[in-house]
Formats: sequence, structure tokens, C-alpha cells
Amino acid sequence: MGAPELRPMPGAFDVERIRRDFPILARPVHDKPLVYLDNAATTQKPRAVLERIARYYEEENANVHRGVHLLSERATAAYEGARARVARFLGAADPREIVLVRGTTEAINLVAQTFGRARVGAGDEVLVTGLEHHSNIVPWQMLCQEKGATLKVVPVSDAGDIDLADVERLLSPRTRLLALAHVSNALGTVNPVREAVALAHARGVPVLVDGAQGAPHLPVDVRELGCDFYAFSGHKVYGPTGVGALFGRLEHLEAMPPWQGGGDMILSVSFERTVYNRVPYKFEAGTPNMGGAAGLAAALDWLEGVGPEALLAHERDLAAYAAERLAAVPGVELVGTPRERAGVVSFVMDDVHPHDIGTILDREGVAIRTGHHCAQPLMARFGVAATARASFAAYNTRAEVDALVRGLEQVKRMLG
Ligand code: PLP
Repeated sequence: MGAPELRPMPGAFDVERIRRDFPILARPVHDKPLVYLDNAATTQKPRAVLERIARYYEEENANVHRGVHLLSERATAAYEGARARVARFLGAADPREIVLVRGTTEAINLVAQTFGRARVGAGDEVLVTGLEHHSNIVPWQMLCQEKGATLKVVPVSDAGDIDLADVERLLSPRTRLLALAHVSNALGTVNPVREAVALAHARGVPVLVDGAQGAPHLPVDVRELGCDFYAFSGHKVYGPTGVGALFGRLEHLEAMPPWQGGGDMILSVSFERTVYNRVPYKFEAGTPNMGGAAGLAAALDWLEGVGPEALLAHERDLAAYAAERLAAVPGVELVGTPRERAGVVSFVMDDVHPHDIGTILDREGVAIRTGHHCAQPLMARFGVAATARASFAAYNTRAEVDALVRGLEQVKRMLG
């Protein structure tokens, strides 16, 4: 990629129109206009999502799959429609490749405890990168501890990138799985996933992609990426909390043992023998989050209406503008300057604790996240306990980046 252009976005991406879709953005915070720059933690919800969830509970609510009555049929249609919608969003060949879960964390744990347990043994290795969120570290660490296997880590450069040569070097005959983030939640690094998948597959190693920050910021096509698993959370793609999805290649899902036991994941139960349901129901024990799934489908409709390509260009512009403006604030230092960045900028400020930055900015109506971002090994790599992080979404503007910078100048006057 060449140097980012810092021109205002072309008229096709109408931020003001987008902002009007989000009721919460009109809400003042401490009597100031809300500047919401904590999107990597969770995004705000457009009216279409709020209305879809309300309509589900007002007109369609019942339990799924089991009922013969009209509402149960409606609820099932909403739920299975959401599965098909997610399949289209991810470019999956077949809706059976989509398991609806609570979110990315649950999806990764599901894979670790089924696919991972069946494949990883004593002396084997699981390969992750130094950029991962705890949700893509701890499930593998637990698996390795259980099996006597080793967790190997692809190092992170000073810029916040991984090097494909290191991936290649660390893939060994004992590697049973590579698990890596599409986009780092702490630095915004876009990992070279397609290339990493090709390297892993050349050695017969399957790949799980943590798409919690990929799905909100990048157009995703699991067939083009070639990955075996892709996980994301609804609440980070303008949808509700408590729902997300796992894409898994059909042949893997078919071969995997079930995860949790209970209702819906069975065909028949007797005290002698239980026959499990077919894929993907085998992995969906208990009453699912139907209202959430309906909201997620509405969120994906909304997102595709905006256009993932246009959104990516908009967020790249904001992140590049933010990186340039923040670097010019005396005492502010960016953490990570990755080759390719998506929608996230992390920084520290001389002698000011990130929590103090966040608290003072909040009084100005500016919401950012401060802390370790559930990526403590990455923080340790950069020699910091915490950073301040601004993360962008469709509704953010350059004027909001300016508000962030004004807030930091205020922090500097107060504490610097
Ligand atoms: N992976 C990454 C890269 C994330 O940013 C997050 C959330 O911040 C997660 C995993 C976990 O997502 P959730 O808490 O929705 O399960």
C-alpha cells in the first residue's frame, strides 16, 4: 500500500446521513456532544437493528425448531434467515457452515474444545501470534495444558506487524493449528491472513481466524481467505450483544464431536444412547438467541447497505488522519505503526497514565478505551502496561478526531 491520502472522503460516503441512523449519537455526555471512539470494544446500533429486535419480540417471538404453531415457524424463519445472512456476509458456500454462538470468545472456545481436543496431543504445537486478544490465547493455552502440548508465538515487530517468514519458520511438523487475528484490536494491524493460510495449508495445518475486528472493518470472504474457521461477534458489527458466528468448513464441522450437551443438539436421547443432530445444530445446545440473531441479520443488511469497501476507505482515512494528528501532539507517542492499519490507533502520553487521559476526555464527551485491551502479552511486548485507544466506525468524522486532539491538549495543560 502507498502512503495514505488525507483528502476528505468523496461524497459517495455520506457520514451525516449515516449518523442519523444512530439515535444514541444525539445523546449529550456531560453536556457535550458525544464523540464515540470506543468502537473496537462495541459499536453503537442503527435504528434498523433496534426496530428489528423490537419487531421480533412484538410479532414473532416463540421458541425455535420445535413448535408447529405459527409463531414458532416465524421465530425459526428469523433464526435460520440470520444464519443464511451470516453465510452470505462471510462468503460461505453453505449456511450449514455457520454456527450461531454468543460471540467470538465462545466460537474460539468451541473450536479449541472440539476440533482442538480431537487433534492436539502430547508434544504437539499450536501457533498463535503475539498480537492476539486473550480470547485467542487462553483457550489454546488451556488446551495445551490439558494435552501436554506447546503454545508457540509468532513475534511482533516494533511497528506492530508479524512477518510471514516467522510464520513459515514456526510452522513445524508438530503444529496442529494456526490461530491468528484478522485485525489487532489493540494496534489496528491487518494481518496477512491469506498468505499465512497458504503457508499453513502447504504444511497441512488448519487455520482459525479471529475476525472480531476483521468483520467490522474489512470486506470478508472466507473462501478467498481460505481459512478453516472464522469467528466474529455481532456487537462489533452494529448488531446486538450475545450473538455471533463461527464459520467452519463443512468437512471439519461434520468430523468434530459436539460441544455442549442439551436440547436442540440431539436427534434422539435414551439412557443407553444419544444420537446427535446434524451440522450445525449439533453445536447449538439450548434455546438460542433468536431476537439477537434477527438483530444481527438486520445489522449485516445495514452494513452491506453502507458498503464494506466504502466503509474501509472511510475508516482508513480516519485512522490515518488520527495517526498524523496525534503524532503531532507534544508528548504523544503512537504504539505501533503497522504496514496496513484498520480503524484503530493506540497511543501513550509522557508521564500521564492512560486512565487519566480517558477520564479527562470523558468530561469532554470523548469516549475512548484505556487499559491493556485484553492483549497483555502485546502490551508487554511494547513495554507498557496500558495504552489509550481510539477506534473508528462508519459514523465517525474527522471533526471528531479534532475533538480528540483538543481533548488531549487539555490533558497536557492539566497534567503534562
Ligand atoms: N478477539 C478480538 C480481536 C477482539 O477485539 C475481541 C473483543 O474485543 C474478542 C476477540 C472477543 O470478543 P467477544 O468479547 O465479543 O467475545
